[in-house]
Amino acid sequence: MPEVVSSIVEKPSLADWTGAIRRSALQDMLVEASRPGILSLALGLPAPELFPTTELSRAASRVLAQEERALQYSPPLQSLKRQVVELMARRDVKCREEQIFLTAGAQQGISLLTRLLLNPGGRVLTEELTYTGFQQALQPFQPQVLTVPTDLLTGMDVEAVEGLLKGGERPAFIYTVTNGHNPLGVSMSVEKRERLVQLAERYRIPIIEDDPYGFLYYEEAQVQPLRSFSETWVYHVGSFSKILAPALRAGWLVVPEEIIRHLAVLKESSDIDTTTFSQRIISNYLAEENLDTHLLNLRREYRLRRDTMLEALEKNFPAEARWHRPACGFFVWVELPEAMDATHLLKIALETEQVAFIPGSAFSVHDRVLAANCLRLNYSNATPARITDAIARLGRVLNSQK
Ligand code: PMP
Repeated sequence: MPEVVSSIVEKPSLADWTGAIRRSALQDMLVEASRPGILSLALGLPAPELFPTTELSRAASRVLAQEERALQYSPPLQSLKRQVVELMARRDVKCREEQIFLTAGAQQGISLLTRLLLNPGGRVLTEELTYTGFQQALQPFQPQVLTVPTDLLTGMDVEAVEGLLKGGERPAFIYTVTNGHNPLGVSMSVEKRERLVQLAERYRIPIIEDDPYGFLYYEEAQVQPLRSFSETWVYHVGSFSKILAPALRAGWLVVPEEIIRHLAVLKESSDIDTTTFSQRIISNYLAEENLDTHLLNLRREYRLRRDTMLEALEKNFPAEARWHRPACGFFVWVELPEAMDATHLLKIALETEQVAFIPGSAFSVHDRVLAANCLRLNYSNATPARITDAIARLGRVLNSQK
């Protein structure tokens, strides 16, 4: 007898949370934006020509020649933990090797901490506009996300945080990007840092301080991370992606020693300690090459790109557009008049000027109307000449829509 072939395509039954995922028109447009020929200010990529390729290649050769276990399964590298303690000391953070947990980048750090702290359907507290990778890490938990606004000059609205906590809210944690906020570009004021940490201590709520841009500051004074104010209540997330190279997939957490063993179980269960080869290369790089010279070079070049973008905005954007000078990180946030719709502008910009950016609403936690008139512009990836060109093109798009 011939086999009966069903014409119905069987769909696997997935966990409930996946039903909440919606593909947006914006995501389709961002695929467009990555086509060759598009001048993109959309993604948060470092400048490829600034990767320390020669130095990393030397470090990789030394590791392969000298370390027998370089390609073997192995536990996280102790020497790199010691070096991370030294790196953090430069930023006024006192910590011990026992408090360092090595990750496959900041994203994994955030994801592991979320899994460790949050129960399904629990509560977290963050900003109305925040890093989308964090929002993705939350999705499987379907949490209730409490949000507060962010001041574009001083950062997270800490009074609003206090209001929620005083009103009885007890989120599992508070998440914020303290330096060179993604997407808003702002770095939190010192007063707010102190106040936020006091609140965390008083209400006994951990803060996840996501800080991948902390070493890339462009003004004289660098501000101390939240972790320098509290050893117990701040879980600091660091990364080598922006200061060395993202493909190394390497970062770290500075956390209370008691939680390290739980993080180890979570990480082993998902990847059996990935990136130990990268850890060895980075450790060798830090011991034998000159990170300080490299960081000075990065700061100088990214400062130039930031200033190039600000100058081009001044020259080409309509007078009603507003932005601030970021002191740190990779992004300028531009506010257009309320009536303008950045998603519509992106469509026109792609079609008529082959230039891309991300509309502000893409970062909104709850309300897709919030920041619909805003743009996130990246200044780290394109060369100064291309930045000038891209902003002139965007200026033409904006002026044609007035
Ligand atoms: N946090 C923020 C705020 C980021 O902007 C990024 C990268 N865009 C990450 C985390 C992820 O960084 P990593 O490559 O270290 O995983």
